[in-house]
Amino acid sequence: MLYWDYAAAAPPYEEVVQTLEQVMRKHFANPSSLHRAGEEADKLIKRAREVCAAALDVLPQEILFTSGATESNNLAVKGAALQYQSRGRHIVTTELEHPSVYESCLQLQKLGWEVTFVPPDSQGVIEPSRIAAAVRPDTVLVSVMHVNNEIGTVQPLREIGQLVKAVNRRTLFHVDGVQGYGKLEAPLKAWQADLYSLSAHKLRGPRGTGILYVREGVTLFPLLTGGSQEQGKRAGTENVPNIVASAKAMRMSGEQRVAFSDRIRPLKAQLENYIAGIPELVLNSREDGAPHIVHFSYPGMKGEVLARRLEELGMAVATRSACSSRQAEPSRILLSMGRDTAAALGGIRISLGDSHTQQDVSRLEQALLAAVQSLKIAEGGMK
Ligand code: PMP
Repeated sequence: MLYWDYAAAAPPYEEVVQTLEQVMRKHFANPSSLHRAGEEADKLIKRAREVCAAALDVLPQEILFTSGATESNNLAVKGAALQYQSRGRHIVTTELEHPSVYESCLQLQKLGWEVTFVPPDSQGVIEPSRIAAAVRPDTVLVSVMHVNNEIGTVQPLREIGQLVKAVNRRTLFHVDGVQGYGKLEAPLKAWQADLYSLSAHKLRGPRGTGILYVREGVTLFPLLTGGSQEQGKRAGTENVPNIVASAKAMRMSGEQRVAFSDRIRPLKAQLENYIAGIPELVLNSREDGAPHIVHFSYPGMKGEVLARRLEELGMAVATRSACSSRQAEPSRILLSMGRDTAAALGGIRISLGDSHTQQDVSRLEQALLAAVQSLKIAEGGMK
């Protein structure tokens, strides 16, 4: 079976697995404990924070560890909205966002906040001027993702950040960076980002740890209250092995970013060219998108049916993103780009990783053609 679902979960680096085991065995003490063992665990977290900060070119005290990007996004959106409600109760986000941002905004809407959802263009890109036009004096937060997890489009964050701050310099700018880090540059300062979310398992770290950059001077209303861990912004005993291993993964994937992208981008281009040549398929990802995500639709054919056929042929692919794949509804992302329901139901996401070779891509292409042909024949027979 060839695995083509790196955007949902990437296999951890061998060094990450080793670190996890070592820290779990040796440094099980509670970092809040005052004895020596506790202090040592606390030191490991401090060091991990420094590693993550260096990878993002920010300050260690600006790094917060959470349980994943879902928590990071919830804390960024709801924590900022609750903290700064005296400034206003308006939020701007996009129709492309991951459910952890999108649903957080819907929840705030139910509680009386006003949310403007900016749609993308037909290519899945947000036009910066549309964001700027939505920002008002009472806008407390703008949240725009770096790379869309379904179709891989890259959002113009530099322009968006600049425009947001020009319209209202007090508006906070949050970026969900989950699918971009380790694949593309993440210049937080050039984006003028105040908040930035990551998930370790997407960058070959362990499952269950997230990172949230919170620019110095920004306060968040805590969603988890209890102990004073994470500067009181996120209570709960720290997951020391995961935090240390996540920092390692972040450093490694950051260091390998350019080499990874240079190697994987031609494979994506090869696959996209091939898909564009199959008349039944419509390509939704773009050449200038993230280097690891290819997305297409087979209009009229449910994505699940094609994915199952590909699995029979030894290829593990995703229908849209893992978080939404159990829903039978058409993809919200494709609908927001103006695709019809048939195309929005028939989406397949292929995400590439370090292990893939040109030979693997050729095998996938053959499987894809065979799957489409057999489904076409089966469909023809049923008519
Ligand atoms: N944002 C994006 C863009 C994602 O792709 C994901 C993971 N599918 C998340 C947030 C949530 O990450 P996690 O599942 O690790 O909480």
